[in-house]
Amino acid sequence: MRFQKNISLAKHTSFKIGGSARYFCIAKSKKDLIEAIKWAKQKKIPFFVFGEGSNVLALDKGYDGLIIKFQNLKLEDLVKLSAKKSLTGLEWAAGIPGTIGGAVYGNAQAFDVKMSDIVKSVEVLNVKTLKIKNLLKNQCQFSAKKSIFKKNKNLIILLLNLELKKGNKKEIERKIKENLKHREKNHPLEFPSAGSVFVNQPGKPPSASLIEKAGLKGTKVGHAQVSKKHASFIINTGKAKSKDVLDLIKVIKKKVKSKFGITLKEEIQIIK
Ligand SMILES: Cc1cc2nc3c(=O)[nH]c(=O)nc-3n(C[C@H](O)[C@H](O)[C@H](O)COP(=O)(O)OP(=O)(O)OC[C@H]3O[C@@H](n4cnc5c(N)ncnc54)[C@H](O)[C@@H]3O)c2cc1C
Repeated sequence: MRFQKNISLAKHTSFKIGGSARYFCIAKSKKDLIEAIKWAKQKKIPFFVFGEGSNVLALDKGYDGLIIKFQNLKLEDLVKLSAKKSLTGLEWAAGIPGTIGGAVYGNAQAFDVKMSDIVKSVEVLNVKTLKIKNLLKNQCQFSAKKSIFKKNKNLIILLLNLELKKGNKKEIERKIKENLKHREKNHPLEFPSAGSVFVNQPGKPPSASLIEKAGLKGTKVGHAQVSKKHASFIINTGKAKSKDVLDLIKVIKKKVKSKFGITLKEEIQIIK
């Protein structure tokens, strides 16, 4: 495997923001992943594993360690495969960028359906022991945009066992098209972003609606802007720095808190 030096994280994240990783590698298999972790341990440097980089913010100062881009199955390819095999249950995920690992980590959700609705078990690698084990769904501690993997960073998601049902191929394909259209219409796909920056908290109004009602749509800090199309998205209008995004998050949280008494919680993960 190739360990590269000083690789720009802006090039590997959907936000197109971030300084350089001191070391960077692409792991294409379980074997690569283990090799990369061993390499970092030997060098006594920290490491960070991510997937497609579609829900992360890399900092301007970069990362002083090894960034492991784990290229396991993309959600998009899984959706296509399930449609091909006439399996229903994943149509909601059409258009969500990222890998299956990222989707389970953050319990990805759309149209009121979430990963935890279809996951039966998850194969994980423990980075401390380098042992592989299987976690059943009830051991994954799933809740809204949360899983055990957010708490226990030692667990890397390798494989999923999903529960999908036999369906009608035409109907599955129709639903996928409809969902993709909805995304095109409602999400600012023309700008780099990391998706929704804030979690929708159970029992509270959606974060986008709170931000919109606080009059924040279009608000800018540097080159980071609250999307005019979907207020929970922060977009990179050109040369945004991570500092612009973090300062804009502060502005949003402060205004929403003072107007509605609700503390917004970030969904995006910071590479640190
Ligand atoms: C335009 C756009 C639209 C989006 N729409 C949605 C949406 O509708 N619903 C939704 O839920 N999300 C959405 N997102 C966010 C994002 O696509 C999802 O969170 C996706 O599941 C992230 O996958 P990833 O591989 O890119 O994860 P990354 O961004 O690479 O990583 C995110 C986190 O997961 C961890 N991680 C990644 N892979 C693994 C692994 N194998 N094992 C353990 N931890 C891992 C990383 O360490 C990091 O902390 C959107 C993003 C964009 C840019």
